[in-house]
Amino acid sequence: MGSYSDDFLRMLRNDIKINRVIGILCLETRYTKDIFRFCCPLCHGFHTATNPDTNLARCFECKINFNPIDLVMAATNRNFIETVEFLKSYVKGPHHGI
Ligand SMILES: [Zn+2]
Repeated sequence: MGSYSDDFLRMLRNDIKINRVIGILCLETRYTKDIFRFCCPLCHGFHTATNPDTNLARCFECKINFNPIDLVMAATNRNFIETVEFLKSYVKGPHHGI
């Protein structure tokens, strides 16, 4: 899409940890039986989980997987371009990828 390369978009989806994206977005979080859960931006429920291996956040109510780009778009109503620009600012610098 636009001037963004597939590699760049893949990097945004994979290198910014999904739990960090949840923190950046200030989504409400809680632990249930040691499982990290976040407030789903669509249904506002906590029937959710994140998977560090796939770097996806899932809502079991909505039956949706969110990658970092999806989650920012759902939580902030940014469009795709605005979301990419927003996430881009978090991969700069010496702590790239954390
Ligand atoms: Zn949901």
